[in-house]
Amino acid sequence: MNPRSAQEILRDTFGYASFRGFQGEVIDHVAGGGDALVLMPTGGGKSVCYQIPALLREGVGIVVSPLIALMADQVAALQELGVRAAFLNSTLGAREAAAVEAAMRRGELDLVYVAPERLLTERCQRLLDECAIALFAIDEAHCVSQWGHDFRPEYGQLALLRSRWPQVPRIALTATADVPTRQEIVERLLVEPRVFVASFDRPNIRYRIVEKREPREQLLRFITEEHPGEAGIVYCLARNTVEQVASFLVGHGIAAAPYHAGMDAATRAGNQRRFKAEDGQVIVATIAFGMGIDKPDVRFVAHLDMPKSIEGYFQETGRAGRDGLPADAWMAYGLADVVQQRRLIEMSEADDAYKRLSGAKLDAMLGLAEAADCRRVRLLAYFGEESRPCGNCDNCISPPQVRDASDDAKKLLSCIYRCQQASGFGFAATHVIDALRGKRTEKVAKFGHDRLSTFGIGADLSEAEWRLLLRQLAAQHLVEVDYERFNVLRLAEASRAVLRGERRIELRRQVAVARGRAGKAKPAAGVPLDAAAQTLYERLRAWRGQVAREHGVPAYVVFHDSTLQAIAQSRPSSVDALRALPGLGERKLANYGAQLLELIGG
Ligand code: ADP
Ligand code: ZN
Repeated sequence: MNPRSAQEILRDTFGYASFRGFQGEVIDHVAGGGDALVLMPTGGGKSVCYQIPALLREGVGIVVSPLIALMADQVAALQELGVRAAFLNSTLGAREAAAVEAAMRRGELDLVYVAPERLLTERCQRLLDECAIALFAIDEAHCVSQWGHDFRPEYGQLALLRSRWPQVPRIALTATADVPTRQEIVERLLVEPRVFVASFDRPNIRYRIVEKREPREQLLRFITEEHPGEAGIVYCLARNTVEQVASFLVGHGIAAAPYHAGMDAATRAGNQRRFKAEDGQVIVATIAFGMGIDKPDVRFVAHLDMPKSIEGYFQETGRAGRDGLPADAWMAYGLADVVQQRRLIEMSEADDAYKRLSGAKLDAMLGLAEAADCRRVRLLAYFGEESRPCGNCDNCISPPQVRDASDDAKKLLSCIYRCQQASGFGFAATHVIDALRGKRTEKVAKFGHDRLSTFGIGADLSEAEWRLLLRQLAAQHLVEVDYERFNVLRLAEASRAVLRGERRIELRRQVAVARGRAGKAKPAAGVPLDAAAQTLYERLRAWRGQVAREHGVPAYVVFHDSTLQAIAQSRPSSVDALRALPGLGERKLANYGAQLLELIGG
């Protein structure tokens, strides 16, 4: 048999017609024995960058990954494609591990996933000495970075790969982009690598950030109107919010379950398993959930609390739409988020340098949340990429009107100041806004704030509009919220410039449509499914669920949604016609081709 080319493997084994971006170049380089660093966003298609070279080169490809929970599914997915794959980690019994090791020695495996701590054992290293090794792939390579939030000490010791097996090519892969991390990976793991950096754009994700009013109701409306019966992740900051939101959703008929570090391990694992394996599950989680979720058909990621940095936001929202089909990143954001996150930084035990850094990261995130221009342009700019307005975020779809709110800002700042001056202590937002709008509440009367010059000067705006303005002043460090003292408001030094008319304040106008739904996400494939195709699609999904249960694997291991949609749309009537569709390689055609044709025909 002639050795197959990379292109042939992509087509026959993986069922894809062409390489995405630089995949082909990476594969050529690594298959030729070179080291590579690959930076690609989640869902970009990193896996084939090491899987195909491992199939092209002699010997077994060793994949190092910290995500033990994922290995079984990754291996199952490869086996479904007809690739000889296995894993070695602590979930295997001694006998099973011995079988894998024996198969490796006999040269019967193409790819073996190994946990890093395992790889560092003398036993495993001796095993590798006895095998022909095609390559080392180091997945989640940013875990070598001591400064990163995912640091793993074992990753630091992976330098031994290049000293012990200098002739074996290494490929390091990550979805974490910043330059210092990149340098650390190269220094620790690689030798004169070629560096491949993909765009971090995720064009199929629609970004939307809405005013937080009644977050749970807003979330419920978002899910029922835009994603009924679809899989999604809802992120909350605190464990008890996670619990409350999950039971709220369940109470409204949504298949939701909680996930946080405080739950008992068995329940938590069960919830995670169901989310992964079954269709249409919603998981409500703290950010403890996510690393190691490579479910491709997550249709939305919703944030009920703002993440503390753009990196976090990008990573969490990036778990949506890995299959390339349209997905939503939706966040409800309000003044409380600003206050809460600042407070977390302030109260942390970290040193001042770290607090300053965290503060700057938070401010960048706030800038994104407050932005009136394209969210994607801002996101990508944060990662050093230039781009043009995307047409697929809330601000592009229904551009908010921006107005000059400098005079209103002066009124609000003056009122904060006057209330405090008159009483000798500060007041929180509700009271200040009442006084500003001329509401004679009991409290306003009690403190005599109805006699202040600022009483009622803001009657022309609604309470919601004043809150919006206040939040923006807080985000810009013009007003401070003292969370140690009942959230009272104080003027920051920088507010003088506004009061003197030297600094302009712009405000998004409350446009009704920006709050509600911005329209159904546009289908990636172009045409939405018509009724007949939809019926077939549902039938294919039901069949897939059955196959997956029989094989004990998640549904997406059998086929991705995108493949089933392509089948439903084009109704192929022969194996050759099936072959032309994405995700249908030779092994899947042989295993499922006849059944698919029957489903299409029936
Ligand atoms: P990552 O590891 O970068 O998050 P994956 O390797 O899991 O991404 O790939 C993401 C999705 O893209 C998968 O569904 C995969 O099958 C698909 N994919 C990868 N390469 C191609 C390609 N060349 N053509 C079509 N689909 C591809
Ligand atoms: Zn945009």
